[in-house]
Amino acid sequence: MLSRRKFLKVSVTGAAIAGAGGLSACVSAVRGGKTSKVLALYQDTPNRGRRCAGCTYFRQPNGCEIVAGEISPNGWCRFHEARAA
Ligand code: SF4
Repeated sequence: MLSRRKFLKVSVTGAAIAGAGGLSACVSAVRGGKTSKVLALYQDTPNRGRRCAGCTYFRQPNGCEIVAGEISPNGWCRFHEARAA
């Protein structure tokens, strides 16, 4: 079950795709409640010191609650949200 916050993040991404490429692109891009790496602008390297290992959505050893696929602890994406200290 997605929280309201996660649902909004995935929905906003889907809406952006729908506006750019149509509903079919949206449906194929957002599967299983997760966003694709491409749409998340995922990269395998940190961004200005921010990385997946410090993100609230990261799940050990290499997963993410909102981005699909294998996620590196040293990766980063546009949805990064620093874990509370
Ligand atoms: S930065 Fe956070 S939301 Fe983005 S892929 Fe890494 S763990 Fe997931």
